[in-house]
Amino acid sequence: MGLRHIDVSYEPEKTSGAAKSLKKRIDIPVRYHKRKDGSVFPLEITASPFEIKGREKIIAVARDITERKMAEEALKVRNIELAKLNDELEKFTYANQELNQFAYTASHQLQEPIRTISNYIHVIEEDYASLLNKDVLNHFGTIEEAVKRMALLINSLFEYSQLGRNKKLAYVDCNQLIKSVIKDLDYMIESSGATIEVGEMPELYLYETEIHQLFQNLISNAIKFRSKDNKPKVQISSEKLNEKWMFSVSDNGIGIDPFHFNRIFNIFQRLHSSEEEYEGKGIGLAYCKKIVQLHFGEIWLDSVVGKGSTFKFTIPLIPR
Ligand code: ADP
Repeated sequence: MGLRHIDVSYEPEKTSGAAKSLKKRIDIPVRYHKRKDGSVFPLEITASPFEIKGREKIIAVARDITERKMAEEALKVRNIELAKLNDELEKFTYANQELNQFAYTASHQLQEPIRTISNYIHVIEEDYASLLNKDVLNHFGTIEEAVKRMALLINSLFEYSQLGRNKKLAYVDCNQLIKSVIKDLDYMIESSGATIEVGEMPELYLYETEIHQLFQNLISNAIKFRSKDNKPKVQISSEKLNEKWMFSVSDNGIGIDPFHFNRIFNIFQRLHSSEEEYEGKGIGLAYCKKIVQLHFGEIWLDSVVGKGSTFKFTIPLIPR
């Protein structure tokens, strides 16, 4: 109190002349003043000239904008971080596209030579069988099986690389979507005696065909990897988190050792060979992961061996 504004200003040279020549109201976005303890803080000033009894006066309002400035600084830092993230995302998207293109070309190009091998094996078996002894024919049988498997794997790789190529974003009622998945799995559900419980599902923007496939893979795995001791019970639920929905598919099946939690999402990764009781190509969860990533979400699981597994995935709310 009792101080002139020049006494509290941190930049008196900016203040002195301006005050004298003031003819109309001015808004000064940022000036710096000193506190009593000498520390400096930013403020915003509005000053207007007026007259009292023929004498020119100035009235000024100064507002401490420390908090606003801090928020602006934080926003600047955040923007820099976002720009960096965006760069990373672009690089990642590019690398992903290249990888996809590679998988597409490789799997496409390999189909033809495999067909040729397969054809010639047939020709040899049919036209030269009388010239070959039993051992050689047996070996040809083994080669034929391996070629079939190779064709299957390459075809899966091709389909995997195609996944999401024609994706279409749609506003989807997930209650209906899951109903139709359950209908598609009708035979599997009936024959295994599985029960499926479905909680309330949201409506949101999704790539519908792909999410249909995702639920189909998770639900069919939940039934396929059932334990011998009880009938499969699958629970499907959803939960709204901040900016995303989280879905979960739980089962009471054989469970998975935490050691394998990450690797089962890799393409062609299986914990059981096809010769054992669980059929499969080891591609279902790789599909799931790719589909969730198309939505910029995440997928993971919790599981206890012998008790069951819960697969969870998130779908962010805002369509991109
Ligand atoms: P596939 O079902 O063709 O073997 P997936 O990619 O769908 O391939 O699954 C990979 C592996 O993860 C499976 O071989 C299985 O060992 C394990 N797995 C997946 N889902 C479950 C589940 N619900 N319960 C137990 N194990 C599972």
